Amino acid sequence: MRKDEARLLDGFVRALREHRLHMVYQPKVALRDGSLVRVEALVRWEDPELGAIQPSRFVPLAEQHGLIDELTQWGLRTILRQWVDWCAHKLDTCIAFNISALSLQNLDFPDLVERMCRGLKVPTDRLVLELTEGATQPLIKLIDTLTRFRIKGIGLAIDDFGTGYSSLMQLRQLPFTEVKIDQAFVADLGRSRDCDLIVRSIVELAHNLGLTVTAEGVETIEQLRLVKELGCDVVQGYLIATPIAPEGLLPWRREFRKRWPAMLTDEKLALWAQET
Ligand code: C2E
Ligand code: CA
Ligand code: CA
Repeated sequence: MRKDEARLLDGFVRALREHRLHMVYQPKVALRDGSLVRVEALVRWEDPELGAIQPSRFVPLAEQHGLIDELTQWGLRTILRQWVDWCAHKLDTCIAFNISALSLQNLDFPDLVERMCRGLKVPTDRLVLELTEGATQPLIKLIDTLTRFRIKGIGLAIDDFGTGYSSLMQLRQLPFTEVKIDQAFVADLGRSRDCDLIVRSIVELAHNLGLTVTAEGVETIEQLRLVKELGCDVVQGYLIATPIAPEGLLPWRREFRKRWPAMLTDEKLALWAQET
């Protein structure tokens, strides 16, 4: 292992064990009416010496060094407690949680998640697991585990759809409840006819299979209007909100309710909504 990687790993283990990781939450809203449908939990690590480290650096490290289950369980405990806290403030929303396919290899994992939900009295249908297809971790191999989650009422989203290894076929074979169209497609909308066509086909197939379609990485009013036109159900991205600390969610929702009506209608107001 390289010296800087060893240092990163050492720092990560300490942060995990000393409870110095935290979660931020990015709102996902319905395109129908701008209501908050769920938040996606995203892990953050700010090291006193190394600075802020991206999850795309330390999550793979945790996977390679046998620490992923510990990270997953810390994450689940954190978000379930957060749900209880929001609920006490009259905010009952669903939470989406990114899960490494490695953590799903254990057939007992769905039971563990159910027990954790029960222990904190969180209804299982408030939880959605987001999964990404990897080269070495084909999701089809996890079909039994995924089915167990669905039987328990836990939602399943396929993340970064359309890139890498995910295919339209999987939507039919696996028990997903949601498809998240990758940011790269959203970025190219309106610029590439192929891209519009691909998104339209994904939406059509997903809807025929009864799945919700989320567009992620929406950064501009134009993208928001395009994904609505193409039939997506839910949006997520910096235009709606950047990932926020738990206590920021209620104030964000109050502000967003005022901003939303202009976003899909009036041009001038839409610009204002984009800038605020
Ligand atoms: P992801 O699940 O695809 O998460 C979306 C990423 O895009 C997040 O980066 C988010 O901050 C960013 N993002 C959101 N809206 C926009 C936008 O409008 N424009 C652009 N350019 N980016 C946007 P983040 O937080 O750095 O997470 C990166 C990846 O790390 C995630 O990708 C996910 O795969 C993984 N990850 C994050 N948290 C966890 C976790 O708790 N457990 C596991 N296993 N993986 C996690
Ligand atoms: Ca995700
Ligand atoms: Ca994604």
